[in-house]
Amino acid sequence: MNFLPAFLRLEQQPCLVVGGGEVAARKAHLLQRAGARVTVVAPDLCPSLQRLHDGVDATTTIDWRQGGFEAADLAAVVLVVAATNDPDVNRAVSEQARQQRIPVNVVDQPALCSFIFPSIVDRSPVMVAISTGGASPVLARLLRARLETLIPTGYGRLADLLAGFRERARQRFSGGRERRHFWERILQGPASEMVFAGRDAEAQQLIEAALATNPGQTGESDAESGGEVYLVGAGPGDPDLLTFRALRLMQIADVVLYDRLVATAILDLVRRDAERIYVGKKRDFHSVRQEEISQMLVQLAKEGKRVVRLKGGDPFIFGRGGEEIELLARNDIPFQVVPGITAASGCASYAGIPLTHRDHAQSVVFVTGHQKDGKVNLNWSSLVQPQQTLVIYMGLQGADIICHELISHGLAESTPVALVTQGSTPQQQVIIASLASLPEKLRTTEVHAPTLIIVGDVVKLHDTLAWFKTGEE
Ligand code: SAH
Repeated sequence: MNFLPAFLRLEQQPCLVVGGGEVAARKAHLLQRAGARVTVVAPDLCPSLQRLHDGVDATTTIDWRQGGFEAADLAAVVLVVAATNDPDVNRAVSEQARQQRIPVNVVDQPALCSFIFPSIVDRSPVMVAISTGGASPVLARLLRARLETLIPTGYGRLADLLAGFRERARQRFSGGRERRHFWERILQGPASEMVFAGRDAEAQQLIEAALATNPGQTGESDAESGGEVYLVGAGPGDPDLLTFRALRLMQIADVVLYDRLVATAILDLVRRDAERIYVGKKRDFHSVRQEEISQMLVQLAKEGKRVVRLKGGDPFIFGRGGEEIELLARNDIPFQVVPGITAASGCASYAGIPLTHRDHAQSVVFVTGHQKDGKVNLNWSSLVQPQQTLVIYMGLQGADIICHELISHGLAESTPVALVTQGSTPQQQVIIASLASLPEKLRTTEVHAPTLIIVGDVVKLHDTLAWFKTGEE
């Protein structure tokens, strides 16, 4: 170990930054965030330092002594950072500070440092610090980026909340082991996820309730720890398009209910030991009815399980998400809805078709082209407005009718149309046609579900903006 990791309490402590550039500004800002009283020594201040000096973004300001570094600047400071672009000045600061046993950091010069700044993941009061001992700051930053994705931003609030219960837990559980088990149950139960979802008050109630139960009973069975349902949007197919929260919940789930739209690559990310239940529907063949799915969610949650209901795209866009959670709400089962990237956004991006565009479309409408009794019931006149992009979900079967109706209600036959199949996956195909030619094209082309239809002038941009390797017709 070439450096000892430690955390400094700098509240109200005088600290010195030598240098007036952007690097100095970053260090000064960091010290300021830790509550230090910062003085900057420099002949001039860059705009960022000037802002800190003026107190534009913070309640406190930094002091500025205009001029070059002098040994006297070190009087009474507890820490100094040299961040000038003059190696001689940096060396002088380092030497003087070390003589006086003041911790010193010289930016990018590990040899001149008595301490180094780690890369940090800041979830105050939780703080993760990463150091490569000066070997490779870039490596430390990459590692940091990874950790950022793993640690929910709500961790700080969670820690604060738990801190409020520490004393009571200490009184409640005399044994250290018992207490540790209590906290482990709380942290691995729904309370933490509630905090991450911004429901601090509910989490607080859960902890209160857990503290109030008899020692012999606390969390002995799953049912007592309380089940919860997470209605999670899995995005259009590419696993990289999952949200951090979706991934985290998939990895703590006891049971996952999924349907046909959820790609295998995404299902692979679910916790290995989780039970997987297929509840998908095929067109005209509802394998598990909607009410049964809702019932299953309630039942599983009542058994104390953490249930993830994975939906393709976004649960609240043509996903019947609202219906599925209605019964949960009526049964007082805690639930969360995690938004996902809907097919329209995913397919449009991956096909290089901006859904709105200053020159071509000022609005975008999402509709379902689902047929009922051989008809597509839509408000056609509202769909043929100029400068509007139309995105049709579930429109493949009714494509003939849709094209016909759009033309007869006033859209030009030449209006460009894109049919995106299996959007955002390696199998994605984009078929470009016009309203007049699409039906014929579909008769001669093999198309794999799911497919999304995009209608409007923005489709023309596909030629120039497509970036994702894709099958073309
Ligand atoms: N909740 C989903 C939509 C469910 S309806 C969402 O927000 O995306 C199912 C329809 O979504 C399909 O018939 C198809 O029109 C569209 N769809 C979903 N994923 C798709 C994909 N990867 N590529 C093309 N269309 C997709």
